[in-house]
Amino acid sequence: MIKQLKEKNPGEDEFLQAAEEIYESIQPLLKENQQLKSEKIYERMLEPERIITFRVTWLDDNNEVQVNRGYRVQANSAIGPYKGGLRFSPLVTLSVLKFLALEQTLKNALTGLPLGAAKGGADFDPKGRSDKEIMRFCQAFMLELHRHIGHQIDVPAGDMGVGEREIGYMFGAFKKIKNKFTGVLTGKGTMWGGSYIRKEATGYGLIYFAQEMLKQHDDSLEGKTCIISGSGNVSIFAAEKAIAMGAKPVAMSDSSGFIVDKEGIDEEKLEHIKKIKLEDKGRIQTYCEQYKEAEYVETKGDKNKNTIWQVKADCAFPCATQNELDENGAKSLVENNTLLIAEGANMPCTANAAKVLQKGKMLYAPGKASNAGGVAISAIEMTQNSMGVYWTKEEVDDKLLEVMQRIHKNCLQAAKEYGKEGDYVSGANIYGFKKVSEAMMAQGVI
Ligand code: GLU
Repeated sequence: MIKQLKEKNPGEDEFLQAAEEIYESIQPLLKENQQLKSEKIYERMLEPERIITFRVTWLDDNNEVQVNRGYRVQANSAIGPYKGGLRFSPLVTLSVLKFLALEQTLKNALTGLPLGAAKGGADFDPKGRSDKEIMRFCQAFMLELHRHIGHQIDVPAGDMGVGEREIGYMFGAFKKIKNKFTGVLTGKGTMWGGSYIRKEATGYGLIYFAQEMLKQHDDSLEGKTCIISGSGNVSIFAAEKAIAMGAKPVAMSDSSGFIVDKEGIDEEKLEHIKKIKLEDKGRIQTYCEQYKEAEYVETKGDKNKNTIWQVKADCAFPCATQNELDENGAKSLVENNTLLIAEGANMPCTANAAKVLQKGKMLYAPGKASNAGGVAISAIEMTQNSMGVYWTKEEVDDKLLEVMQRIHKNCLQAAKEYGKEGDYVSGANIYGFKKVSEAMMAQGVI
């Protein structure tokens, strides 16, 4: 089956990587239930229900015409309307979005909420663009996307390069085109239909999940040193919750390099990182100008191939992007006796890195389980929009904790049931696949 998949999707490395990992995990299910094979459930899951690609044309600040490619991959609607983020990055390709949409299919099922799966975005690079350019791009993007989405059809949200500002511009454009105020996007501002904690949800949820993993071993995050790669939304709010739980982040990064602060990044230092990265859109390197105890290691173009994974710490949270942690990085984590690795990004480990971590018998959670907090709170935003009722910060945070605990429990139970006790990768894939496949079979061959 994998051979045929490769022939059918040549060059789509990220998509094939995700598809193969899931295929390996679901073997016990396929052996047990012949119907899954005869109904070709996994083959169907690997073919998105619909892929839309479109031209996005807009004027930059010099009145020059710019052309980008926009996408929406509507992967699966067996258990609910399509749901998943939009990514704006020059690295966006169809392969990346197909892998993300496939991961989203199982992730959304794991939340226990009625969510189908999609992913989209554009090969647009927001770096260095003015606010007005971002606005014009978002409007041009929505000028086409609006035809394909709707609050019971497909509900996009943010992802890399798409935060509250971009959601705002896209929401404004959608409302203007349709003349309707509906919950068509999640990640909205709390003043105009958004939910509390949505921005923080992926990072907070990741730390809640890690806490559950440690609880299994009568341990906790209290006093644990942590590596948190990245310095975007996921990383920053993971650091915030980790600090609140008594842990000590000692390293963070961006695409140029990483900082190591052995004394630990505390609340005040994290506020500084928020200002550098979220407000000023600057480089993490400038952290060291303020905090002399920290050191900066440049990784861009580094011949010695230094990585953040060589820093010694109790826990590691890869929160930057796909395939950021390779085999060598994984070996460093094993050598350093890292206790726990929980993914905040989607598929941050290469296939070989994941194998090293699994062999190393460490506590290892895949992103589709440990980073599902973001989409879970998106679902809660959708519920609030439908009901016209808004919950407090505390209420939403309680719901987030509840969802993460449920996902954790479901992963462990599924893993145990299929002879993979303690294996979160197998557990997440089996649970998610089982749920979506049951719905697909109930709905017939369509
Ligand atoms: N992009 C996020 C993810 O990877 C959130 C998606 C959503 O909220 O729809 O899960």
